[in-house]
Amino acid sequence: MSHTPPAGATAASPLHERIAAASGENPARCYQCGRCSAGCPVADEGDCQPHQVLRLVQLDDEAALHALQPWLCVSCNTCATRCPQQVDLSAIMDALRVEAIERGTAPAAAREVVAFNQVFVERVAARGRLNEGELGAHFNLRVHAPFKNLTALPGMLVRGKMRPPGGSIAGAVEAMRTRKEPQQP
Ligand code: SF4
Ligand code: SF4
Repeated sequence: MSHTPPAGATAASPLHERIAAASGENPARCYQCGRCSAGCPVADEGDCQPHQVLRLVQLDDEAALHALQPWLCVSCNTCATRCPQQVDLSAIMDALRVEAIERGTAPAAAREVVAFNQVFVERVAARGRLNEGELGAHFNLRVHAPFKNLTALPGMLVRGKMRPPGGSIAGAVEAMRTRKEPQQP
């Protein structure tokens, strides 16, 4: 097997090529030792273990795009530090989540995680920063549960963990992104 990830892939490419192109990782490097799963804090919470997700990718089994495990990954990178083959499994989990959203294959059990990811990115894009109250309100509306987690609100207010909504630094962020550095003499 090649140890060099393919440079590009199309929607019709085999799963392992698509994930390699999207993640920059080569699934073929994995020899299924299981060290990643042994250290993963959420390995036993999903429908299969992290190294088994990677095996599905190696086999071009599209079931990997329906698996719950990538949605439980918290990107702690424990797997990458334990892997004798230097495979960054969190990058592969990222790529699987992106493709699952694009293809509409995210499992029903991951519905709230998908919604949270979308709302999180939308709010940051809109304001350039995040407001906890806005994030919670938009998330509750997105999952059709307006009273979800409301009991946590008083405690957060008392501890000063909830800032009033409002204000935007989106313009400042865009200005920083497009700012041209002065030419060195
Ligand atoms: S630790 Fe690395 S080589 Fe071992 S199963 Fe996990 S990804 Fe594969
Ligand atoms: S990065 Fe994800 S898959 Fe890897 S150990 Fe952490 S939670 Fe598990």
